[in-house]
Amino acid sequence: MKDFEKNIRKVTPYVPGEQPQSRVVKLNTNENPYPPAPGVCRAMEDLGAHGDMLRLYPDPTSDKLVTALAQYYHVGKDQVFVGVGSDDVLSMCFLTFFNSPKPIFFPDITYSFYKVWADLYRIPYECKPLDENFRIVKEDYYGENGGVIFPNPNAPTSVYEELDFVEDIISHNQDVVVIVDEAYIDFAGKSALSLLEKYDNLIITQTFSKARSMAGMRIGYAIGSPLLIRYLNDAKYSFNSYTMTQASLKCGVEAVKDKEYFEETVNKIVETRKWAVREFSRLGFCFPKPSGNFIFVSHPDYDAKDIFQALRENGIYVRFWDSGRIRQYLRVTIGTREEMETLFAFLERFMRR
Ligand code: PMP
Repeated sequence: MKDFEKNIRKVTPYVPGEQPQSRVVKLNTNENPYPPAPGVCRAMEDLGAHGDMLRLYPDPTSDKLVTALAQYYHVGKDQVFVGVGSDDVLSMCFLTFFNSPKPIFFPDITYSFYKVWADLYRIPYECKPLDENFRIVKEDYYGENGGVIFPNPNAPTSVYEELDFVEDIISHNQDVVVIVDEAYIDFAGKSALSLLEKYDNLIITQTFSKARSMAGMRIGYAIGSPLLIRYLNDAKYSFNSYTMTQASLKCGVEAVKDKEYFEETVNKIVETRKWAVREFSRLGFCFPKPSGNFIFVSHPDYDAKDIFQALRENGIYVRFWDSGRIRQYLRVTIGTREEMETLFAFLERFMRR
């Protein structure tokens, strides 16, 4: 190693899912198969027509977007923090809230970025194993720690825990910050937002990437007590004041306005998920009950890697991790009904061979 390398911050980075540039059936990164709300597309056209807007820096406070989200969720503007996708928001949360010498706790099978941020920021951590049904064991989170984070529904398992379960973990951890990552909550059940009145150490993160079909725009947000949001903003202004582009601010507001379109799109995905569950069962796949816009499937008679490769060679992309307890599983995003039909037609052919 060269001398100058010794003091370089080294980290094993997060590996994002493939983003093939050709036309494929893309069920590998939990995107929404439907376009964003019509108002979002109009806002983009408008931005193109008034290119002058791009000459100026965006509003560093993101006031219009923060206001729209505060109104939508019936919280104060001082309870909302926005960022460049929830990855940016979560990264800021790790940097700001997890500074204890005690380890933070998160599940062993979960969003793999948590480990990467912990390593990047030199945060000690302990992974708590999910049980044999891929459920979080809540008692594992009762011990002393430097903070807690888990997604609900969890990823890549798609398993949702009810609110009393989530509250139990928060109530046992009132001396640290607890982050509930609700990237997929709109497809699942009740959000932990109603717990904010009771717990001022709770931070909830959500995203425009999934239910709002805007992964390409990169908008995420955190909702929490004014105190925690103030600390997050202090960290943000010490890092990069202009995180949100003019386009994200404008399009984000439009997306929040169109509740009807949002609900219609979420319903379509939930309906397709219900049907896909029946199809996967018919073909002999096993999976925990899915609550996100994805299903975590395994087949007793076929190697997950073989199915993954065969699908990929046929232009159908799903997500596969060649590691540990999840080696025999595939995470399949819920696409359109047509995309899922293509998937199931291929699987039938593959299994008949
Ligand atoms: N949390 C979880 C659990 C996720 O699966 C993802 C998507 N990769 C994210 C957060 C981040 O999503 P985004 O940055 O697009 O908001």
